[in-house]
Amino acid sequence: MNDCLFCKIIAGEIPSKKIYEDESCFAFYDIDPQAPVHFLVIPKAHITGANEITAENCAVVGHIYAVIAQLTKKLDCKDDYRVVTNCGDLAGQTVKHLHFHVLAKRSLAWPPG
Ligand code: 5GP
Ligand code: ZN
Repeated sequence: MNDCLFCKIIAGEIPSKKIYEDESCFAFYDIDPQAPVHFLVIPKAHITGANEITAENCAVVGHIYAVIAQLTKKLDCKDDYRVVTNCGDLAGQTVKHLHFHVLAKRSLAWPPG
């Protein structure tokens, strides 16, 4: 997707603080961190949001959770973290490329605002 911010980050056209990359996903620090550790994990395939996950493209979602389990260990998050996917405008999705926020190293309130 030519005009997608996160596709441009994957392509290296927009710089990011990359944490991890493999054939199907890319992880990088959020530009506006909401916790001492706040990074995003995204599929390399352009999927607009969680509402566009299908039987055909869903394998990457499980893979991303496995990557998150590895990265949080590597970043010493002590198995305490939150994964968030906002879907749609009401939920606060501002970038229309599926992404998983990972927040850690502070106490997180529930319910979210
Ligand atoms: P959303 O609001 O769609 O759930 O999350 C989008 C996230 O992308 C936000 O937390 C925002 O700070 C982050 N973000 C937006 N633009 C950039 C950017 O250019 N670089 C990085 N690293 N993060 C970005
Ligand atoms: Zn995209």
